[in-house]
Amino acid sequence: MNLTGTETQPTQQASEARASNAVIDLDSVTRRYAAGRRVITALDNVSLRIDAGDFVAIVGASGSGKSTLLNIVSGIDAADAGRVRVLGTDLNDMSEDRLATWRGRNVGIVFQFFQLMPTLTVRENVVLPMDLAGLTEGKWARADRLLASVEIPHLGNNLPSELSGGEQQRAAIARALANDPALLIADEPTGNLDTVNGLLVMEIIERLWRNGTTVLMVTHDVQLSLRARRRITMRDGRIIEDFTNPKLDEHAR
Ligand code: ADP
Ligand code: MG
Repeated sequence: MNLTGTETQPTQQASEARASNAVIDLDSVTRRYAAGRRVITALDNVSLRIDAGDFVAIVGASGSGKSTLLNIVSGIDAADAGRVRVLGTDLNDMSEDRLATWRGRNVGIVFQFFQLMPTLTVRENVVLPMDLAGLTEGKWARADRLLASVEIPHLGNNLPSELSGGEQQRAAIARALANDPALLIADEPTGNLDTVNGLLVMEIIERLWRNGTTVLMVTHDVQLSLRARRRITMRDGRIIEDFTNPKLDEHAR
């Protein structure tokens, strides 16, 4: 080993070049919560890189830190230590206002319990992120195209409460895609759906991935996790396994 200055230079450049293709780049991220007099380490020194165009499933027992990880990637939550870089943006020192704007334009988020606005119609729910981001040109036509793409073109004028769970999740996916995000984050998107509707939602997510969206999805469903290209297993706030599915590897880019 002879690491002279002239030899380390290209290595450093190469690692920077690689880093530029990373959609998600976490470096030694820790997140702790106070629970009474105890401290819970929800994320324990996690480093993780996810490349553009990948489809990553995160699995692990309840309480292992999966949602905390997603919330830190989307800027909903902040790390106590470590560096968080997503889509080339350093999230560490951004104000909540700037984070919200950044998130609205760059990240689509799908939740287990849909979280549609109950007093807005489905179409209005899909248009809302466009309004918040100021991307309003042709917004109604775009909402209708998105609702058609998730196969509920006829439900735009209904309230969320008039839809089945599977239909609500498809509406929530349409909303997540409102501003054409480079990154889709889904936290147990099928967790509240029956098998048939879960598979339908999974097929929509897979289609988005094949069309170029980077997908990061938490699931407790082993069968569904096997459909991702890469599967990361968490335990006690750490990554304990990182598996790339060789059968799906060719779709990575
Ligand atoms: P998972 O999504 O894998 O079930 P979480 O990321 O939600 O796990 O939680 C990881 C750990 O952090 C758990 O012990 C949980 O109780 C704790 N935790 C998560 N959010 C909070 C919070 N807002 N306040 C206190 N503890 C929290
Ligand atoms: Mg969770």
